[in-house]
Amino acid sequence: MTSESDKTDLAPHPRAPCSRVMALLADYLEERLSPPQHRELTRHLDNCQTCVAQLHTYRSTVSLLRSLREEDLPPDLRRTLSVFLDQSES
Ligand SMILES: [Zn+2]
Repeated sequence: MTSESDKTDLAPHPRAPCSRVMALLADYLEERLSPPQHRELTRHLDNCQTCVAQLHTYRSTVSLLRSLREEDLPPDLRRTLSVFLDQSES
């Protein structure tokens, strides 16, 4: 056996995986994360352009949603946004 099996998620990663960042993005923007989680995300975002881009997309989507009442949105757009938000939360 090699040490390959040691590379499981037993220890905290120095960098959070992108999927974890995506999952926490909403709470990050709402500032609902615990300080360690917040630091973890901030550190990841310093090094990951993909997640920074996702953060900007998410932030502008959220502010768009807040600037509109849901009933003002066309049904198609409403569906698209709810899918997007569901994905970000899971
Ligand atoms: Zn990332």
